[in-house]
Amino acid sequence: LNAMAEAAASNVVMDELQERAGAVIAEVTGAEAGYVVAGAAAGLTLAAAACVAGLDPAAMDQLPDTTGLKNEIVVQRGHRNAYDHALRAAGITFVEAGYLGYPGAGGTMPWQVEAAITERTAAIAWPVLDTPGTLSLPEVVEIARRHELPVIVDASASLPPRSNLRRFIAEGADLVVFSGGKAIGGPQASGILAGRAD
Ligand SMILES: *Cc1c(COP(=O)(O)O)cnc(C)c1O
Repeated sequence: LNAMAEAAASNVVMDELQERAGAVIAEVTGAEAGYVVAGAAAGLTLAAAACVAGLDPAAMDQLPDTTGLKNEIVVQRGHRNAYDHALRAAGITFVEAGYLGYPGAGGTMPWQVEAAITERTAAIAWPVLDTPGTLSLPEVVEIARRHELPVIVDASASLPPRSNLRRFIAEGADLVVFSGGKAIGGPQASGILAGRAD
């Protein structure tokens, strides 16, 4: 909070500030790049937008209208949660995979995730929820890699432990979101998006 108050007293070129902050985030997370976001929910929206629009400025400008763009995100049913809206705000729709009942709440088979992937898939979402029966991050990353799809990890509430800053990137996540307003103890409307530069 003190650092924010101190920084607010000087004027900088925001692009340069984000670039430098991004380099620091990349360093501490082991990711290629990083971005300061206005909360983890904002980070999820930006992550989804990045997976839909890529580096195409016309596609970015079109959002949240995703007509003609890859606009589906695959998610395990046992991973649906109250923050899904943050991903949907970018204009995507969810395609669900897995069972909610028998053989157990959250039960997901790798083939179910695979079958949910189409030419419209932009990403696979993997929130840190530990729902029994859901596929692990490495299992989902293995499927995503085969289809050249990015995996978005919602790790908003997963700090501490500090080791989680690097864990999900190390396990193959393409984009990871952390909240700055939870146990880190930072300002409420702050967060970190870390991942691939593109
Ligand atoms: C808290 C939380 C968020 C949102 O975090 P903010 O930094 O408050 O925007 C998103 N996803 C999950 C799973 C959360 O627990």
